[in-house]
Amino acid sequence: MPAIQQLSASVVNKIAAGEVIERPASVLKELLENSVDAGAGRIDVTVEQGGGELIRVADDGCGIVDEELPLAVASHATSKIRQADDLFSVRTLGFRGEALASIAEVSRLTLRSRTADAESGAEFEIVGGEPRPVAPVGCPVGTTIEVRNLFFNTPVRHKFLRSTQTEMGHTTEALTRLALAHPHVHFTLTHNGRLVHDLPPVEDVRQRVAAFFGQEIADDLIEIGSETDGVKLTGFVANPMHSRASGRMQYLFLNGRAIRDRSLQHALGEAFRGLLLTGRQPICFLRLEMPAELIDVNVHPTKQEVRFQDGGRLYSQLLGTLRTKFLTTDLTARGKSNRSWPISASNDEAESGGSVSQLVHWAKEQLGQQTGTPIAVSNVSSRPGEPLQLHRIDVPAFQPFETQHSPRANLDVASERPATPESRNALQVHNRYLVVETEAGIEVIDQHALHERILYEQLRDKVLAGVLESQRLLVPEPVDLSASEAAAVLEQAELLSRLGVEVEPFGGETVLVSSYPAMLANWRPAEVLRDLVEKLLAGGKQPEARDLLDELLHMIACKAAVKFGDRLAPEEIDTLVAQRHLAQDSHHCPHGRPTALVFTHEDLDRQFKRI
Ligand code: ADP
Ligand code: MG
Repeated sequence: MPAIQQLSASVVNKIAAGEVIERPASVLKELLENSVDAGAGRIDVTVEQGGGELIRVADDGCGIVDEELPLAVASHATSKIRQADDLFSVRTLGFRGEALASIAEVSRLTLRSRTADAESGAEFEIVGGEPRPVAPVGCPVGTTIEVRNLFFNTPVRHKFLRSTQTEMGHTTEALTRLALAHPHVHFTLTHNGRLVHDLPPVEDVRQRVAAFFGQEIADDLIEIGSETDGVKLTGFVANPMHSRASGRMQYLFLNGRAIRDRSLQHALGEAFRGLLLTGRQPICFLRLEMPAELIDVNVHPTKQEVRFQDGGRLYSQLLGTLRTKFLTTDLTARGKSNRSWPISASNDEAESGGSVSQLVHWAKEQLGQQTGTPIAVSNVSSRPGEPLQLHRIDVPAFQPFETQHSPRANLDVASERPATPESRNALQVHNRYLVVETEAGIEVIDQHALHERILYEQLRDKVLAGVLESQRLLVPEPVDLSASEAAAVLEQAELLSRLGVEVEPFGGETVLVSSYPAMLANWRPAEVLRDLVEKLLAGGKQPEARDLLDELLHMIACKAAVKFGDRLAPEEIDTLVAQRHLAQDSHHCPHGRPTALVFTHEDLDRQFKRI
């Protein structure tokens, strides 16, 4: 083994930079936090190429005295704490004294600053960790920090930078967090010469929510608030008609700092239990204010996670506050909700222009392909206000048992596909399970899991064959996304088009959807897109195109499938049971859960102590 050596300051800083500075967005986060700590009332952010070229943050805060400029970028130099005990009374966002040193090590950093009582300002430049002499310069009170060519001297890190759009998405997210946490500060964001956000100080954070996520969500926020033992909880949760497939839109601010906390996310999920479909996540913008000594913020290099002295009490406070609020709030979705069936809910059948029986036709086709025989589809009938029905598909194989429903009995087909007695005996229980008598005993089928499996396989085959039907929208629908969402969508436009989702940029963070899968005709394009986005972003690192495609197929199949809890008509039950034989792996849903449980006669006999 080689001899042990003390690492040089430069290497130490590069290692530290690896921890704190992952991408341009991390630089922006650190600079914004410093500006907020400096008491800025206005912070102007200028970004070029997502931040990889340039990030400039100009604030009107307290400034730095000229002789301290070199210290500001020295590692472990901070004005925010003095001794270790101070760690438990931190009221500022920063305290580690590492950020500027780390950034300066891996970029070309220029710092210009002036305090209120200085006559002029001073400028200090560091290139890849090499300081230049401090020079006087004329500038307003406050601090401007420019970071150019991030990772120019660490090629390995540079390689990890993604497209401008993706980086800009993350960069905007960093601004979003700070701007939501500090509504009294005026923020602006300019990207490649274009003013993207101008956010004057506001009393009501809902205006910021509207600016970042659209008016629709801002209008549907439910205000909550409580205070227990000095812990103040305020903020908003979105009406459950709005949800996401991941927890990315759960913003939690602790004393002005955006944090993630599993336990509090869990409390949120508990509060929304029963209000959202399984797998959906609530949206929230919550603030916690509590004495600094109740928290340890020094557990994570970017301080995204903290440790609470009494996490259990916080959990109960959040859950209790939300539950109480929900009890007194009318949470019904206001006429915008979608039905879970891929087939039209159909009080507007004429409007939906025949898309009503898309699945029916499609399923029929599938059956037809499999049996080589055309299959008739019965008429669709549904009246306004009636519970949603899957329209009947006559399945010839079962008609011998269903003659009262199937005047078009087709015995030819029956002879091609030997009938099984299953459908006759299929019974739906609790709107969830189908119980079927089989030769071996009985089978209990999870209706959603089975349908999802069938749809998933069929979709996959179609996508692989490049023949997935998509539905062109007469009027393309603009969808407002956050910057990172828009970036992800546009970056994966090609992949999405294979799924029948056509998207194009529409200026700013709006994306235009011009077509989407025919199977999801009954869902709003915006919602379909938002869910796809969640999947695109959920992986974190760039996933393999194939895995991503598979994820998206799962999502579409899941959305299009009958839900756990949907009441099915006898014909629908038959159809589903009949289609079971079309799936290659009808025994597992795409998530790997079983679709059916089998109880053999022997099992039953044994349970009843007959054998
Ligand atoms: P930390 O924020 O953890 O103290 P940083 O490396 O981010 O460490 O900053 C080092 C020091 O530089 C800060 O403690 C602060 O005194 C000073 N500083 C940095 N940015 C600003 C700013 N925008 N305005 C005033 N002072 C600043
Ligand atoms: Mg800092």
